[in-house]
Amino acid sequence: MSRILMVSSEATPFAKTGGLADVVGSLPAALREVGDEVAVVMPRYRTIPWDSTASAYDNMVVYAGATPYRVDIRTLVLKGVRFFFVEAPYFFDREGLYNYRGRDFLDNHKRFAVLSLAALGVAQTVWPCDVIHSHDWQAALTSVYLRDQQHSNPAFASVKTLLTIHNMGYQGRFHRNEFPDLGLNWGWFTSDKLEYWNDVNFLKGGIATADWISTVSPRYAMEIQTPEGGFGLDAALRHRSNAISGILNGVDYNEWSPEKDRFTAASYSAENLEGKRVCKRALLEEFRLPAGNPERPLIGIISRFAEQKGFDLIAGLGPLLPEIDAQWVILGSGDWRYEQMFNEWHRWLPEKVAVWIGFNNALAHRVEAGADIFLMPSLYEPCGLNQIYSLRYGTVPVVRAVGGLDDTIQEDTGFKFEDYSVASLFDALRTALGAWQNRDSWVERMKRGMAKDYSWHASALEYSALYRHLLGRGPAPQRPRPA
Ligand code: ADP
Repeated sequence: MSRILMVSSEATPFAKTGGLADVVGSLPAALREVGDEVAVVMPRYRTIPWDSTASAYDNMVVYAGATPYRVDIRTLVLKGVRFFFVEAPYFFDREGLYNYRGRDFLDNHKRFAVLSLAALGVAQTVWPCDVIHSHDWQAALTSVYLRDQQHSNPAFASVKTLLTIHNMGYQGRFHRNEFPDLGLNWGWFTSDKLEYWNDVNFLKGGIATADWISTVSPRYAMEIQTPEGGFGLDAALRHRSNAISGILNGVDYNEWSPEKDRFTAASYSAENLEGKRVCKRALLEEFRLPAGNPERPLIGIISRFAEQKGFDLIAGLGPLLPEIDAQWVILGSGDWRYEQMFNEWHRWLPEKVAVWIGFNNALAHRVEAGADIFLMPSLYEPCGLNQIYSLRYGTVPVVRAVGGLDDTIQEDTGFKFEDYSVASLFDALRTALGAWQNRDSWVERMKRGMAKDYSWHASALEYSALYRHLLGRGPAPQRPRPA
């Protein structure tokens, strides 16, 4: 049993902008089930009612340099997991987590420095732990401060640190003029620590100082060490390559299973797929597409409309749409260029393409259940969830072989392509549409996907083994395989 203190800027159900929140919302409970004790430190944002929490420590003063920040630590227990909330209304009682109407808060560096310092305060005064597990740039300074204080503070002498990186695209980069606000001496502002092109880079500081670095899939752990995947930090990561591994995110099958989905028109299972036909027909009707021909495949997309997700490749399919014998349902929002593009596709081919712009969880479930093929041609993908949901719903994924997509989709459960090109995507799609013609082998493929298990339990076992390794009680995890 290890005692793990997680530090994160997001966790469901309290605050979420992305997959990070799902991980920190689910992993601690799964770790408890495999025998570890876990608590989470995060900000007390406006979305978290103050009076739902109790006092854990009042008037904690943390110093970022000469500046004292007075915070309270509030707490509650959810599903057996203790959460500590850093109560600092001058930083966190705001609309939005990191920005307001698209503009980053100007004091983000101070806000998240104080989160890390307060987390160390919790570890020292309220909840002693063996490992501090921080997530993403917002918590990356935790291991920096720990090292800074370790020699003078016996409480931290044997504490180990793990940094999990959920997406290299976000690093917490600030002007060097902000560096003094962090309360670190200039010795930390060097190219092997926090300095990056004369800026301060939080994630780089975490990479330099954490005892171990993990990412959310084994293949992504390898990709971030290359110039294409490292977003400028590949050299810093290669320098730590002995201490990097990847652990796939799990999914919550209580939420995402065709047997018990509360949002879909019918339930189904690998043994009885009849309900999937019902879901397909209902989805076509909901999207006002002709539902007369069930032999015609239905391609689904659910995504943030962002470059990362491969939408420029999908855009390249535009002129080929008439020759692709399939219908399309597209759910997503984001970059207005793609919103406009899909709207235009729909106006051009209203019998073939339907689109719903916005975020709609219930509809996402119905697309997973009703579609035959799920398309996810990402440029890069740290882990990815939708392709894993698709497997469970018998919706065969067509994906680019990168990151978590490559780790979760095999040749016998989906279709993959390598090159980031429209031609390769089109080829993969054509291969899938060809395979669709053979109903029996298609159903076999669906069933193999439905049998895959990506639950949190397996991931929790891997994290638990990693903690044990850090504490000198177990072997090192497998390092990512080479490209
Ligand atoms: P990322 O975290 O990079 O956006 P993932 O595939 O890891 O991508 O996770 C995306 C999650 O968000 C999934 O649970 C997916 O169903 C959901 N999602 C994305 N866009 C939408 C949308 N427009 N409506 C409903 N759910 C969405």
